Amino acid sequence: MTSRRMQVSALAVGVLLLIAAPWVLAPFSITLMNYIGLYALVALGLVLLTGVGGMVSFGQTAFMGIAAYSTAWMTTVMHGSPWLGLVLALVLTALVAAILGAVTLRLKGHFLSLGTIAWGLAIYFSFGNLPGLGQNTGLPDVPPITIAGISLEASGRIYFLIWFLLLVAIWLSHNLLGSRMGRAMQALRGGTSMVESLGINAFGVKLVTFVIAAMMAAFAGWIYAHMIRYVNPTPFDVTMGIEFLMMAMVGGSGYLSGAIVGAALITLLQNSLQDWLPVVFPKSAGQLEVVVFSALFILFLQYAREGIVPFVAGLLPKQAPPRPARAEPLARRSQPTPGLPLLSVEAATRRFGGLVAVDEVSFELKSGEILGLIGPNGAGKSTMFNLVTGALRPSAGTIRFAGQDITPAAQRKIAQAGIARTFQHVKLRPRMTLLDNVMLGTHTRTKASFLAGMLRLDRAEEARARQVAMDDLARVGLDADPYELAGNLPLGNQRVLEIARALAADPVLLVLDEPAAGLRRQEKLRLAELLANLRKEGLTILIVEHDMEFVMNLVDRIVVMEFGRKLCEGTPAEIRADTRVQEAYLGGVA
Ligand code: ADP
Ligand code: MG
Repeated sequence: MTSRRMQVSALAVGVLLLIAAPWVLAPFSITLMNYIGLYALVALGLVLLTGVGGMVSFGQTAFMGIAAYSTAWMTTVMHGSPWLGLVLALVLTALVAAILGAVTLRLKGHFLSLGTIAWGLAIYFSFGNLPGLGQNTGLPDVPPITIAGISLEASGRIYFLIWFLLLVAIWLSHNLLGSRMGRAMQALRGGTSMVESLGINAFGVKLVTFVIAAMMAAFAGWIYAHMIRYVNPTPFDVTMGIEFLMMAMVGGSGYLSGAIVGAALITLLQNSLQDWLPVVFPKSAGQLEVVVFSALFILFLQYAREGIVPFVAGLLPKQAPPRPARAEPLARRSQPTPGLPLLSVEAATRRFGGLVAVDEVSFELKSGEILGLIGPNGAGKSTMFNLVTGALRPSAGTIRFAGQDITPAAQRKIAQAGIARTFQHVKLRPRMTLLDNVMLGTHTRTKASFLAGMLRLDRAEEARARQVAMDDLARVGLDADPYELAGNLPLGNQRVLEIARALAADPVLLVLDEPAAGLRRQEKLRLAELLANLRKEGLTILIVEHDMEFVMNLVDRIVVMEFGRKLCEGTPAEIRADTRVQEAYLGGVA
């Protein structure tokens, strides 16, 4: 049996078991299953937000609470139907999430998580204090949900709604992760500068991910209110937010099924602790529960940080997915007429405090040309590249690309205009496959939205983008195993993978910062051949490289930098003969 068939059969058996559960399990177990399903739905949002996107949030209970209170208010105060309650819950939660996200998501690392605690607390306290929401006693007599006249009052009935919604949410999330926006989400982890250099709006992707996670919590909150038939502030405390995060982590943050595994494990553990702790310690069971829990969590962080799902998956036999079927690659852009000015840098200057890293440097690059930028370490070459690609703003000067002033443009706009780059310090996503890393490069050439990805409306475009990535992997000689994780490649090949990613953007100008560093001789020759072929196709290349033989044989012209300034410019032969260059850089050996 193929691994895909095995997955599908396992899924079918799982769904059948879920459907059979209410007839087999005791009512108490079904109630537990209901909680597990609801918690898993919230944890699933956190898998996307934290596990995939790297944004830690303690505030998911606040969204659950907003939804629960919305529907409770709609049904008990306004006497509307639970379905109207759902609409209000979703709209209000989305609105609050969008506002909170816009404010907090620009914060980095710990500040972001602290921010989520802050508004988590604020929202929790407002439940108890806002007029009309029953203060600390809450809103009683919330009606049950009815579907087509069938009341979901019994726990064996609402069970089906909970698990149906959870499975749908997992299916949508699964689709999303295998789509263009899902790749962008995965790329968020590890800094935004690479993401933006691919033309991706990192903040936009963060914000939508945040709202999606909040929506999942909102669905859970809506059902919760109609399941418990009563809302008060207590369940929406920040401590529950910590538990949700624990569920996502224990299950295996980044793995969708981890949400169910984590929610089940923590809920069952809590439940059994509540059972036997009072037996062993009759006096202080309440406090001990927290202590035992914390101890278990610390053990988990010490020994199984990755979580349960990846641990189990590691024990199962692995089978590489089949190579993707051939498809028509994405349409390519037409390259500009060779010989016309493409990039012009006029007196570009960049200061870091008192240090002038780039000092009034000017040069021009014509279409179809390969220009080498050389100079000793610290000369300002990488900074120059950061100015050209928009990763840094010049302190003074102008940069024009394809007739447009791109000096004030955002990095991702410059990427969209057709400049693709690699980094001196490789920026890949080590836990994504080679194929996915290269497909990230196709972002500006494709269109599928979050929704299209979730609903699998993007398959034709995906196939074409995948073909581009496969072709570019083949081109750089890394197509042997496209499903290998990028982090498993030796450093030299990681550089080459970055080039494939840049090529996947179908750029007009390729900017390469020390691409041959760490390559062996044979690999360097291959790279030189690749770059020469790219020039034949009309691509324009700007390259920093220390290997003089490599540079001199490849480029049309060279600009030499020293101490932030341009020392001189000329053909390789002229530069080789220049005594200033020999003194400054080549040490007289050229
Ligand atoms: P090169 O790539 O030619 O080796 P760089 O452009 O990396 O040189 O660096 C030029 C100078 O600018 C160096 O002195 C470096 O320390 C400084 N520099 C580069 N980036 C920064 C930064 N972000 N902040 C402060 N100083 C920087
Ligand atoms: Mg450098």
